[in-house]
Amino acid sequence: MSSTSETALKPGSPIQVFYSGNRGHLPTIDRAKGVYLWDTTGKKYLDASSGPVITNIGHGNERVLQAMNEQAAKVCYASRAVFENQPNRNLAKKLVGLAGPSFDQAFLVGSGSEATEAAIKLARQYAVAKGEVQRTIVLARNPSYHGATLGAAAVTGDPQSDAVFEPVMRIMPKVPAPFSYRLPEGVSVEEHALDCAKQLDQQITETGAENVLAFIMEPVGGLATGGLVAPDCYYKAIRDICTKHGVLLIFDEVMSGAGRTGTFLSAEHWPDARPDMVTLAKGVAAGYTPLAAVLTPNYIVEPIVASGGFLHGHTYSANPLSCAVAVAVVDEMLRMDLMSNARDVGAYLMEGLRKIADQSAIIGDVRGKGMLMAVELVADKASKALIPAEHRAVYRLLEIGIDNGLLLYTRKTAGGKFGEWVMVTPPLTLTHEEADELLHLFAKSISDFERELADHGVL
Ligand code: PMP
Repeated sequence: MSSTSETALKPGSPIQVFYSGNRGHLPTIDRAKGVYLWDTTGKKYLDASSGPVITNIGHGNERVLQAMNEQAAKVCYASRAVFENQPNRNLAKKLVGLAGPSFDQAFLVGSGSEATEAAIKLARQYAVAKGEVQRTIVLARNPSYHGATLGAAAVTGDPQSDAVFEPVMRIMPKVPAPFSYRLPEGVSVEEHALDCAKQLDQQITETGAENVLAFIMEPVGGLATGGLVAPDCYYKAIRDICTKHGVLLIFDEVMSGAGRTGTFLSAEHWPDARPDMVTLAKGVAAGYTPLAAVLTPNYIVEPIVASGGFLHGHTYSANPLSCAVAVAVVDEMLRMDLMSNARDVGAYLMEGLRKIADQSAIIGDVRGKGMLMAVELVADKASKALIPAEHRAVYRLLEIGIDNGLLLYTRKTAGGKFGEWVMVTPPLTLTHEEADELLHLFAKSISDFERELADHGVL
């Protein structure tokens, strides 16, 4: 295969994935502190998205850096086949303690995708250990995102990915996500959500409940559904359906967990819908080191241990350095009371975004919980029509944000079928003053884009 000399990668150059496909270059990061980043030209950016919703405690936290150095000086790595390590014990204890009474064990891995894989394999081994060997199907929602590895991609609701990777994996069945902004004609948010839950029930029955291992979903939507919060009745309904069919309920809290929505787990917002397993990543180590976790109750782990142990693990699973850093991150999150801040400053930001939406022609919806929010863009608020594709709406807004020194994180669903949005998910350390600056830069970026659309005759 040949390519033109202009586009050919030079040997040794990194493979670059452009966020917009046609900008040609990205700034090079130099340094970061708190909610700000600087590129190598000295330009300063306020991070309104925490990268891909990860840097929850902000950059350059001195206590975390000290813990990192201390652990690195002691031991960075020791084989799990030979040694246990105290940071692993400390982190597991801390995470299950914060997650509440229904969780007893934490299995630590390196990324959100690995956590999804581990949760699926735990569910499968649990079924096998109980003699329910025919249980092999994991149901999920469309759209959704649970990771990039093949097992995680199989439960991800993304037809574009399925079209490419289907021949090398076993795509799992999907049920609709209960969107609240784009609803079927004449149907209330609650009715639609309950209908989505009913479709889960029907899918389990069609698949044969005896064949289903688990249902996986994000309790508060991340990028794939843009801060989607279903009405309360949905959570209770899906919990009851899973219980009725003996199907494990897995909450993917890779993005929504670790304090992001104002509670340690988002699951805490719906106490009558406790999941059987939870995955965590991102905010647990807040970008200081790769780390993720699956939290499980003893009733899942015990039969697996009795049957010979969990047939799973990665070289870096539960390594001492990552665990020590994550302990320090979680301690800092607690010491600074960032869950309260996520609620308080999150509510302030939400109010500010809604005021901007009132003044804007292109913000159709503002939604979310705590500091996990999204702003949905439309060409027309009444019809909820999409901005024509050639204007690359959310990607263009991201570029304008960068020019204005504001970092955003965006998603257009496949073909725009479910809409398009920008996430507003700053570090949980955001102060009111920083929130004002964020809102100012966001309002400016929206009006810059509106002016551009008006120049093109769209508005
Ligand atoms: N689940 C969710 C909800 C996510 O947002 C992500 C990452 N965006 C993942 C899983 C996968 O995590 P990672 O990129 O760390 O593998």
